[in-house]
Amino acid sequence: MAVNKIILFYAFAPVADPTAVKLWQRALGEQWNLKGRVIVSPHGINATLGGTVEDLKRYVKATKQYPGFGKMDVKWSDGMGEDFPRLSVKERPELVAFGAPDEVTVDKHGVVGGGTHLKPEEVNKLVEEYGDDVVFFDGRNAFEAQIGRFQDAIVPDVQTTHGFIQDLESGKYDDIKNKKIISYCTGGIRCEILSVLMKNRGFEDVYQIEGGIVRYGEQFGSKGLWDGPLYVFDKRMVVNFDEETTTLGECSQCQAATSDFHNCADPGCKVLRLYCENCVEVARTQVCPDCVERLATV
Ligand SMILES: [Zn+2]
Ligand SMILES: [Zn+2]
Repeated sequence: MAVNKIILFYAFAPVADPTAVKLWQRALGEQWNLKGRVIVSPHGINATLGGTVEDLKRYVKATKQYPGFGKMDVKWSDGMGEDFPRLSVKERPELVAFGAPDEVTVDKHGVVGGGTHLKPEEVNKLVEEYGDDVVFFDGRNAFEAQIGRFQDAIVPDVQTTHGFIQDLESGKYDDIKNKKIISYCTGGIRCEILSVLMKNRGFEDVYQIEGGIVRYGEQFGSKGLWDGPLYVFDKRMVVNFDEETTTLGECSQCQAATSDFHNCADPGCKVLRLYCENCVEVARTQVCPDCVERLATV
């Protein structure tokens, strides 16, 4: 029987003709029956794809032929089959929608002027050496951090990546501008950009984790500085790094410990909230606070 896997990768490299690369990527995906999401921009490529090991290997080999994509670091994880509903290949001005395409410069080595890359063991070393002078800064949407985060991390109250610039410029992080800041996100791509935006706004000493939480968690599980499971953007939703993972999330109804996200009861709303086993019925009928407010003002 075919073994299903999920790959996650990105490469920052100049793409002169994103439309041509998009069409080529769609042809590759269709040729090997892959499903998932590929984004192509003038800054490079970002993809999460599911399929059989054989098909994904062929796809990776072909994609690495593009100049600048050869260096991409592909993260493999187990899929369940049909992890994504379809194949979507899109051309966008940015690989991640921070709303700052002109602030990012990419050359053949990658993003210009980003944070210093740390390997997972170097993260621990920096914290050991500098203690409280090191601050973890969550580069994800706030809801993702509800179930898992680095110890004592700052979690910006942003609903989407678009919210970061305003948040960084609000002044609320001015007191950490001269600390050592380790930005982190799922696979590392968001921090490639976030670290540039932070440095451009006066944060002096910014770092990012090579391979993101995924690589750190694979290496240290629950024995390092990371607590809880990891939220992922596919059907699995939650990944545990090992058996001893602690549960940080709280049911939005009864505060019981849980890592189970459920959609808002409004089918048009994308907000995810945590519910425990006992409150699953409530989750099916309850709309989120945003929807309550929206319905009240109609
Ligand atoms: Zn509950
Ligand atoms: Zn809602």
